[in-house]
Amino acid sequence: MAYDKSIAAFEEAYKVIPGGVDSPVRAFSGVEGTPPFIEKGEGGYLFDIDGNRYIDYVQSWGPLIFGHCDADIEKSVIEAVKRGLSFGAPTTVETELAQEIVSMFDSLDKVRFVSSGTEAVMSAIRLARGVTGRDNILKFTGCYHGHSDSLLVQAGSGLATFGTPSSPGVPADLTKHTLLATYNDIASVEKCFTDAKGDIACVIIEPIAGNMGLVPADEAFLEGLRALCDEHGALLIFDEVMSGFRASLTGAQGISKVKPDMLTLGKVIGAGMPVGAFGASAEIMAHLSPEGPVYQAGTLSGNPVAMAAGLTSLRKLKANPGMYVAFGMKAKKLVDGFQKAAAAVSVPMVTDVRGSMFGFFFSDKPVKNFADACENDTEMFAKFHKGMLDRGVYLACSSYETGFICAATTDEMIEQSIKAAYEVMAEIKA
Ligand SMILES: *Cc1c(COP(=O)(O)O)cnc(C)c1O
Repeated sequence: MAYDKSIAAFEEAYKVIPGGVDSPVRAFSGVEGTPPFIEKGEGGYLFDIDGNRYIDYVQSWGPLIFGHCDADIEKSVIEAVKRGLSFGAPTTVETELAQEIVSMFDSLDKVRFVSSGTEAVMSAIRLARGVTGRDNILKFTGCYHGHSDSLLVQAGSGLATFGTPSSPGVPADLTKHTLLATYNDIASVEKCFTDAKGDIACVIIEPIAGNMGLVPADEAFLEGLRALCDEHGALLIFDEVMSGFRASLTGAQGISKVKPDMLTLGKVIGAGMPVGAFGASAEIMAHLSPEGPVYQAGTLSGNPVAMAAGLTSLRKLKANPGMYVAFGMKAKKLVDGFQKAAAAVSVPMVTDVRGSMFGFFFSDKPVKNFADACENDTEMFAKFHKGMLDRGVYLACSSYETGFICAATTDEMIEQSIKAAYEVMAEIKA
């Protein structure tokens, strides 16, 4: 495949945009080659400016559960655009989307919309601190909750790819309130509660971690978190910005019996437009401005064009709950194929699937936490990634990311991807 135009575009971008990209993981730092610059998408395919076509398993990092240019979503967006891009005043489409979301999750009475997952989580944390009157928060090593200051500690994918455990520019005075525990290790959480004398506002977790590769939490671990939070009066926050409407219609909550006190959403609820949301019981949400004293705001929050895209997408998902079974079967077929292709040349691989989310590690042992994930063979991954890209298969450019199946991913695309994996594995091992 030729990448000449993308290489030139990357050089141009580099001169005026740091690293040539507007979000670090796009830069291909952890893999070989330069990032293809995208011309357009079409269903399950991406096309770059050199005219190459790829089967897209990134899907804008999750949001595009119906693939590119879905006709219904496109139509609702165009209709909304014609009425105006933004009003900074209430619109009924916000209420409609809120009603859809609240009706799906037992854990929610009310939601507030924002413009990104980062904002959703940052605001949820502020609310949890405001409600409990406590400063400390507990997160898990390898979980990513957006790039706000207090959460940029041991935060998985982007940072793992770059080998930065934390970031300069984040005051230590701020992160001293961020306690770290080990994913799937309840004893490490108990220790934090003991050390902090129970003084913890909230425990935030990706109940299906997708930012250290795909690493789901064990049910017993989530039950343990629920019990510890109840015992100490801490709020349990599920960050389902990625897993919401991806792992199942209701994300992890469609799979686990454990219910959080607060929930953060993003990605799929915007269907490719910038949307995030956080929600909880009416009692907790009553602390939020203007009902209560905890301040939070946004000029473009609940943007009518973004709301229209999200509403159409969620209604389509809700009308077709069987989609998740099909997603799961396709995802499983894909990673089973990858695993067999690796096994054919005696390379160990472990895989996992949750609904439309899939993960694979070049590793010979199960991955339960970030330390396990870090033992994956990143060099092997980089070669695999390049080989697949050259054969028209667009995988996330880091071994710490999750892959996605969408409604436009066909069995034929999966079979083509598996065939490519056999060729690549044979080449890597030769
Ligand atoms: C993507 C993601 C975020 C951040 O969302 P942005 O829209 O990128 O700000 C937060 N939490 C999780 C679990 C995510 O996957």
